[in-house]
Amino acid sequence: MPILKRGKILVINCGSSSLKYEIFNMPQKDSLGKGLIERIGEKQATISQKNINCEIERTFYCPNHKTAMSKMLELIEEPTCRIISNLSEITSIGHRVVHGGEEYSESVIINSKVIKAIEENIELAPLHNPANLTGIKVAMEFFPKVRQVAVFDTAFHQTMPPSAYLYGLPYEFYEKFKIRRYGFHGTSHRYVSTVALDIIRRYAENTNMISCHLGNGASITAIEKGKSIDTSMGFTPLEGLVMGTRSGDIDPAIIFFLAERGYSLEDINTILNKKSGLLGLSEISNDLRDLEQKAEENNEKAIQALEVYAYRIRKYIGSYAANLVKLDALIFTGGIGANGVRMRERICRKLENIGIFMDYEKNREIGSKSGVVSCDYSPITIVVVPTNEELQIAIDTYELTL
Ligand code: ADP
Repeated sequence: MPILKRGKILVINCGSSSLKYEIFNMPQKDSLGKGLIERIGEKQATISQKNINCEIERTFYCPNHKTAMSKMLELIEEPTCRIISNLSEITSIGHRVVHGGEEYSESVIINSKVIKAIEENIELAPLHNPANLTGIKVAMEFFPKVRQVAVFDTAFHQTMPPSAYLYGLPYEFYEKFKIRRYGFHGTSHRYVSTVALDIIRRYAENTNMISCHLGNGASITAIEKGKSIDTSMGFTPLEGLVMGTRSGDIDPAIIFFLAERGYSLEDINTILNKKSGLLGLSEISNDLRDLEQKAEENNEKAIQALEVYAYRIRKYIGSYAANLVKLDALIFTGGIGANGVRMRERICRKLENIGIFMDYEKNREIGSKSGVVSCDYSPITIVVVPTNEELQIAIDTYELTL
């Protein structure tokens, strides 16, 4: 048996005004603690950090990401509620990066070429890649000798064939502007599909799955023999499922219709990304829990929003099932997929005709845990798996650097 090297991996997810971090003890995969900094760039930022024994929260002046990371490093080893005793214990660092374009189909050790590629993909992810890049550059300043890894949201979907990633647009737009389906949530789909295989005791090589990541953002992926062959988010995360506040698929002509009625492009962008989905339909909330509560009280808009949400998911499951030679498992994850017992039931109630039989009692019993929720006789197994993108980033970083 080879001796596995030990390491402590710092995982960083840097957003434009936030920084999430977590440290994992490898190869055991134990989380030692994690934290979140919010409102970077504002006068009063907050940092909260917890480990298995304690939790702390503080406010501090944080003009930029460098100050944020410096505060994070201070707290990680501060005796009050530390995660590790000394920063020198950190063996490598993994970064979440949203867009790897067509260049990256796997996680990579960061060097100047990788940094250039992330920069070049800024035009494809203008809100995320710059922040991810800032996180990388600042971490490199603080840890010049520690190897750092980029884990891309898009990488898992790079195995899609052209038939799935090309749009029915003039081909020159793909060549000139790289307009194609990229897909997102790849790290989550990859993680939950690996865990699901363990749960159902099967190998990737002979298993086809559909994984539903249903959070505030939501996407669904068809996985054939361990590889993504189609996914519902596209050129941007706006396409596909009805989400918390995003519309998902609409007839593109609606945009011209609204523009002709005086809505600016900026208005339409805000409407489609922030005012649509469950929030727009229900006129109540983007939060599933609020809507389930209202639906219990027979609120018609809430009931309708939940039905539209579930219908779109079934529509995608049906279309992906038709494109896989055989479907073996359906996975639910994300805040809604992993916790929304009633939503899982709502989605599966009409899937029996394609061989997906939910055991409603098991579904209720499993609640927010991981496990199988289909009937024993169901040809397709339904599995619930809480996602853990940070752990997947730590695993990739460990495998590439130690
Ligand atoms: P994000 O995409 O922001 O990471 P999450 O994956 O945390 O989002 O999912 C947020 C969604 O999960 C919300 O709609 C929330 O209502 C839902 N959710 C969280 N916990 C539960 C629960 N116990 N039951 C039902 N829905 C839940």
